[in-house]
Amino acid sequence: MIELKGISKQYGEAYAVRPLDLTMPSGQTTALIGPSGCGKSTLLRMIAGLIPPTTGEVVIDGQALTLDTALRLRRQIGYVIQDGGLFPHLTAGQNVALMAKHVGMPQEDLEARIAELCELTRFPGDGLSRYPVELSGGQRQRVSLMRALMLKPSHLLLDEPLGALDPMVRAALQADLNEIFKQLGQTVVLVTHD
Ligand code: ADP
Ligand code: MG
Repeated sequence: MIELKGISKQYGEAYAVRPLDLTMPSGQTTALIGPSGCGKSTLLRMIAGLIPPTTGEVVIDGQALTLDTALRLRRQIGYVIQDGGLFPHLTAGQNVALMAKHVGMPQEDLEARIAELCELTRFPGDGLSRYPVELSGGQRQRVSLMRALMLKPSHLLLDEPLGALDPMVRAALQADLNEIFKQLGQTVVLVTHD
């Protein structure tokens, strides 16, 4: 569960996010919908502990997100940033494996998990050796999603995962995401402007 308590973000005089209370229950998908510039990405960054709120606090499964707890709590959070944010100099497979390698997951487990994720996100296995620039938009989003899910986080944040896709691909990925969320039963926060 993610709780936002009186959370706001100001840059100088301007509010990126006005004071807000919101509870996002476990095992459910919560969609944040609003026009460009209304503060959706800022809100997700505060939940992910990447920027500190001006006022208020983020509570994840009962634990307040602070400088001390951010690193640990962030391991419980998968985050698909706007535009995917894949590292262009790493292949799809290397992007997905990055954090797992960092925490020392054995190679065998790592490969098994990636195979599982390819099936879940319907990403073709032979695409793993390609660089992001060699993939379609829909495939890149699937790789971003696999990377976010690699360590089985209990919370998943997605920032406009369908934004840059053409309508046909968007409809297909939307249906797939719906299925994936149902299967995983995670706490999902999805940002969209449409
Ligand atoms: P959204 O994701 O809903 O399109 P953002 O959260 O990215 O909106 O931005 C919300 C508002 O905060 C915008 O007006 C944006 O210009 C402003 N903003 C975001 N980040 C910064 C920053 N680092 N410095 C100053 N203003 C910012
Ligand atoms: Mg945004």
